[in-house]
Amino acid sequence: MSTLQVINPADGQRIAELACDDAASVQAAAIAARAAQPAWAMQPLDQRLACLGRFREAVRGELESLAAVMTRETGKPVRMSRNELNGLMARLDFFLEETPRALASETVWADGAMTEQIEQVPLGVVANISAWNYPWFVGCNVIVPALLAGNAVLYKPSEYASMTGLEIQRLLHQSGVPPGVFRTLVGTGEVGGALLAQPIDGLFFTGSHATGQRIAQALGPRLVKLQLELGGKDPTYVCEDADPEAAAQALADGAMYNTGQSCCSVERIYVHEQVHDAFVAAFVRTVQGFRLGPPMSEETYIGPLTRGAQLAVLEAQVAQAVDKGALLHTGSARRLPGPGHWFAPAVLSGVDHGMQLMREESFGPVIGIQKVRDDAEAVRLMNDTRYGLTAGVYTPDERRARQLLAQVHAGSVYWNCCDRVSPRLPWSGVGDSGVGLTLSRYGIQAFARPKAWHLRRPA
Ligand code: NAD
Repeated sequence: MSTLQVINPADGQRIAELACDDAASVQAAAIAARAAQPAWAMQPLDQRLACLGRFREAVRGELESLAAVMTRETGKPVRMSRNELNGLMARLDFFLEETPRALASETVWADGAMTEQIEQVPLGVVANISAWNYPWFVGCNVIVPALLAGNAVLYKPSEYASMTGLEIQRLLHQSGVPPGVFRTLVGTGEVGGALLAQPIDGLFFTGSHATGQRIAQALGPRLVKLQLELGGKDPTYVCEDADPEAAAQALADGAMYNTGQSCCSVERIYVHEQVHDAFVAAFVRTVQGFRLGPPMSEETYIGPLTRGAQLAVLEAQVAQAVDKGALLHTGSARRLPGPGHWFAPAVLSGVDHGMQLMREESFGPVIGIQKVRDDAEAVRLMNDTRYGLTAGVYTPDERRARQLLAQVHAGSVYWNCCDRVSPRLPWSGVGDSGVGLTLSRYGIQAFARPKAWHLRRPA
């Protein structure tokens, strides 16, 4: 049997060797899921809610050790691992409370003779292929509502978050989800590929645009329900009436939190020329205050990058930008020496859209700040992208913010905030940021098929 080496990105040391799935074990898991799903779906919703409620309590009870596992395998600073797990509690509460409403059958017409009803039935066996940057969030955004809706779930966590994936499996089984109904599949993209070959009823993917495209191509001919939550190049515009200091502090956090490895990280900043210099100075000061260090340390804000391969992307983006005239105010132009994947936060101004830094996802602690003349230029630049996950505006003027954000193509828009996800709101992207959505009541209904009932009472 092949194995997966889990490497600590902070020091390059091997921390585990996991048994990998293969084509045969993936097929066996799919057969078991198909067999187990009907009985799971037949249970009253209350029983599935009780199972997932126990799962919530189990995660809460082990929060510290689960945070440590996530930090060791992804390099996420431990405070942020804890934040993710605490945030997960609120997401689980939302799912547990909202699901009975979201999945309730509806009578939409009744005239005595004829009744029309909509029933939300599970899709069947669904696959979830996922990313490593927020493994509990992005995993559970699919796993929990899918299970509550009565589906069986085959979960392929990222190869960079497989220990967390196995913890999710352990705690779900311990909470009463039958082994056939939920299975974590360990391995690289090859195991993901083997999963695509199974007769699944839905594929829910979180990851890069390149992999999403490959998956869409593989599944297209089979017409399997497909959701893709992909990358972004999320812009924010700081207007001249905003407080540059406050905006800079918030946006520095939005750009650098989780070492810049959030799907909704602030990736491009446009600042009105009247406040540009004050904003850049405050931004650089804030970033210089971020402590880079061992991810298990409570003081650390910037950890290592999870994937070593991203270091070359960041180096190339910064080098090209500087080459084309950008000013590097602070941080690395190159990876830091030594073991592990380290890159000090880099802040650049004097950037433009001729630079990769302003066009391609960085997914790391680098940011470009561009000066703009007016709102029209800011909107044009914000929309000059193939992505559309989130976008924001900083101004005290709500009317202006609403007018600006109405013109921006993005799944989520932010007024005076950034890098924020709410379980109550749909999470979706437009363009190359994806298809479909998770979270909110719609992100629960995504795991069910509305079945139409036409019922004629005999006269
Ligand atoms: P990735 O595309 O490299 O991998 C994602 C998953 O796909 C992994 O589990 C991987 O093993 C699997 N995979 C790879 N090749 C495959 C193949 N050919 N067939 C089937 N599965 C395959 O992405 P990543 O590095 O894990 O995640 C980072 C990306 O995810 C970033 O672009 C980020 O913006 C995006 N992301 C988006 C959201 C969102 O909500 N929109 C959330 C988190 C991350």
